[in-house]
Amino acid sequence: MKDLLPIIDDVTGKKRPIIIAGPCSAESLEQVMDTARGLKELGIDVFRAGLWKPRTRPGGFEGVGVVGLPWLKQVHDQLGLRVSTEIANRGHAEAALEYGMDILWIGARTSANPFAMQEIADAIAASGRASELTVLVKNPVNPDLELWIGALQRIYNAGVRRLGGIHRGFTAYGKHAYRNQPQWHIPFELARRYPNLPIICDPSHIGGHRELISPLCQQAMDMGYEGLIIESHCCPDNAWSDAAQQVTPQMLGVILDSLVIRDVRQSTESLGMMRREIDRLDNELVELLNRRMAVCRDIGRYKLEHRMPVVQTGRYVDIINSRAHAGEELGMSPDFIRAVFAAVHEESVRQQIEIHRAENQEEL
Ligand code: PEP
Ligand code: MN
Repeated sequence: MKDLLPIIDDVTGKKRPIIIAGPCSAESLEQVMDTARGLKELGIDVFRAGLWKPRTRPGGFEGVGVVGLPWLKQVHDQLGLRVSTEIANRGHAEAALEYGMDILWIGARTSANPFAMQEIADAIAASGRASELTVLVKNPVNPDLELWIGALQRIYNAGVRRLGGIHRGFTAYGKHAYRNQPQWHIPFELARRYPNLPIICDPSHIGGHRELISPLCQQAMDMGYEGLIIESHCCPDNAWSDAAQQVTPQMLGVILDSLVIRDVRQSTESLGMMRREIDRLDNELVELLNRRMAVCRDIGRYKLEHRMPVVQTGRYVDIINSRAHAGEELGMSPDFIRAVFAAVHEESVRQQIEIHRAENQEEL
């Protein structure tokens, strides 16, 4: 994916990020136009509205469907905004392309499905509009970078060069501060492998609550994201979907005005020094982890000799909770510390199981 073009033309090079904003779902012509007028005043680049809503369970509001396409066309024709919507299958792609949508995005449940991605890619190729169209592919719901890359490649192979990724966080089991866990290292790795692929951040679906939008936007800007896609509704509390995470256009204006845009590519001498310090600390961390694993292997041998099981649940819970507490005291997020120690524990268990397996093979 070397010959990619900017997602949209005339905003490249400007100081501000690309802003895509609009309601989670189009509900009525009035709601769409009201919201779009408020957003136009802010000077956003692209209007978004979902027409087909992939709902987790049946019975919820599944979107107005094709009925909303003329509403988006009206936003384009009367207000001069670029318009975008989500597509999840061939039929959506054909209908959206027929109505001249400028940008199509692919949702997280769809990008996890290679069959759906291929039929969308085929529909785009068959439309003859691939070269002018912009397509943004959200990360799949599960943290699988290869699946995300595969979805992007299918669209690229259909002839789309105005291609980008959207980071909207990843599903995790249980209750968490964020609706979808950011796992920032995954989009980072995508950017490392495809440096010219623009990546946009979706703070609305990561955060799930409107109070989290502003800090997530700032974080995304500090990490060098190309733009933001933010859900905005003229009357958020009455929204038919994702009410808790939508903000009014006025509130979005306040959020955008407060953003500090720094040039993240600048590398001053002091930045270089601090990075060398990080490299040194990371090496120390790896060294320390290795020493911890050596003790774990000793414990593994001891358990083997005394016919004890490798995993003892009580011990695992103690480790995670006490480390999370200690980390929190030092100003770190307890969720972050839990994730680190869950990974460390998993590797310790793997190494102990290796010891047991080697011993069993010897016995055979
Ligand atoms: C959306 O953008 O409204 C949407 C459904 O997003 P996601 O696929 O990220 O859940
Ligand atoms: Mn939504």
